[in-house]
Order: sequence, then structure tokens, then C-alpha cells
Amino acid sequence: MSRLAIDAGGTWLRYEIVGEREECGRVPSQETPLWSFLSSLLKRFPDIDAAAISFAGQVHEGVILSAPNIEIDEPEIENMAESTFGIPLKIENDLNCAALAESIYWNEKDVTALYSGTGLGCGIVAGGEIFHGWRSLAGEIGHIPYKKTPLRCGCGKDNCLELYASGSGIEKWMGYLGCEGKPDLRMLAASQKAECRKIAEGYIEAMLAASATAVTLFNPKILVLGGGVIEHNPEVVDRIERDIAEYALAESLNGLKIVRSRMENASMQGAKLLLDTMTTLID
Ligand SMILES: [Zn+2]
Repeated sequence: MSRLAIDAGGTWLRYEIVGEREECGRVPSQETPLWSFLSSLLKRFPDIDAAAISFAGQVHEGVILSAPNIEIDEPEIENMAESTFGIPLKIENDLNCAALAESIYWNEKDVTALYSGTGLGCGIVAGGEIFHGWRSLAGEIGHIPYKKTPLRCGCGKDNCLELYASGSGIEKWMGYLGCEGKPDLRMLAASQKAECRKIAEGYIEAMLAASATAVTLFNPKILVLGGGVIEHNPEVVDRIERDIAEYALAESLNGLKIVRSRMENASMQGAKLLLDTMTTLID
């Protein structure tokens, strides 16, 4: 038999089939709603007997609550997979999946993953378990209040940390201040215009605040920094290591390791780990 792992991100819906059959592929997230994508794969590969989804949005007990960049044609996706195809499905927030995968990769039970990509997100593994909160909304660090801006976050507020510490935030500031070129931190830092240089400085400062908040709140052994902006600007990790003492509670830095993610797709790896826990239950 085979099992299906899906990484449902804002840009791509990726899948990997593992077990007797091995296949992978992807479609643009804007073109196919999630349930249509899942059900077409399950029809195409009837030997799949379990599925797991790492999902870029809010989910609680198998129900999709919200998703900024993925079209949702069926919120009750776990129930639908069970009733329509008779297979167990598990859906989990993508940052939670990534944190789980990072925790296995670094072989530590207390890991916080802070990812700065399109948005700013955080997943927490505490004592080897994902920390969810009452309605599975814990770790939404991108939307904690930071500084008032003339911009609007995807959540509707104007003072979110994500407006500074994410790729979408950088782009919004560039549009507002009339900065030319790609949303690239190094280009911004070298800009002739002082206000454009300030976007790059503002990003670093906000990432320091985010990192310090994460380690002060969750007290991890390892803080893993990842996501597209960090991948393209690994020097940000050095800055955070160097300056975090000015921002975080001193004792929470004692013994803390700050690392850059070494995983190619921690979110997908996390979905596969969910499959492993399900297989144990099925067996
Ligand atoms: Zn927000």
C-alpha cells in the first residue's frame, strides 16, 4: 500500500506518495482548490490508504478555519476523506509540521521554528509534542502588535510584526515608499535612498524582536530560523545571534542554540512524520 503527503503552501500544492508507489508532483495553489486536488489524487491512486496535509493556514481538529492564500472548497476535509474515500487523513498547520520535522532533524524535544517567508510564522515543539493552544492558534507571532504603520496586514491590522519581518511586509513598504527593484534585503541595504535602506534595517530589528519574543515565551533549546527570506539572506541569522542579548531575557539565552534550517522542505517532512504516527495507530 502507499501513503500520500501533501504540502499545501500559498504558492504550490505539492504531493509525495511514499510506500510501494513513489511519485511526486505539484500544481499552483491559485489554480486548484485543496479538496479537488486531494480527491483527484485519491481517485487516481486507489492504493493510497492514508494521507496527511501540511497546511499554510489555521486548522483545528481536522477542520480548516482560515487560509490567506489557498482556495478552500471543503473545510471539513478530514471527515470528507473518511466518508468519501474511507481513508484516515490528518491535517496540521505547516509551521507546526515544520517544527516537528526540525525537532527530529536536530534531535531535540524543545524546538521553536521561526520562519520568515511571505509571512512570519512560528511553530513550537515542547517536550516532543506540538504546542497547539485551545483552538490550535498558538504561535501566530506575525500578528502580535509591534509598531503602528501606514500599511495593512493580511489580518486587517496596521501594527503587526509581520509588516516588518516578512517578504510581504518588505514589498508593502517598498510600494509605499516608492523603492524600485526586487524585494531583496541586500539591494535595499545598498540603496541610494535612505528610506529604502531603512526597510532592510527595520527587517533586522523586527526579526530580532521576533526571535527574542519566541525564546522568551517558549524557552526552546534550539531556535531554528527558516523560510524564503532567511534562505536568501543567511547573514540575518548571524545578526540575530550577535544582537539577541539586547532583546531577550538573559536567562532564556543560557544554553540556547540559534541555527538556520538545513532542511529542504521541513513542512513536507512534517507531513510525512504525521503519516508515520498514523501508521502506528492503524497497525
Ligand atoms: Zn497581522
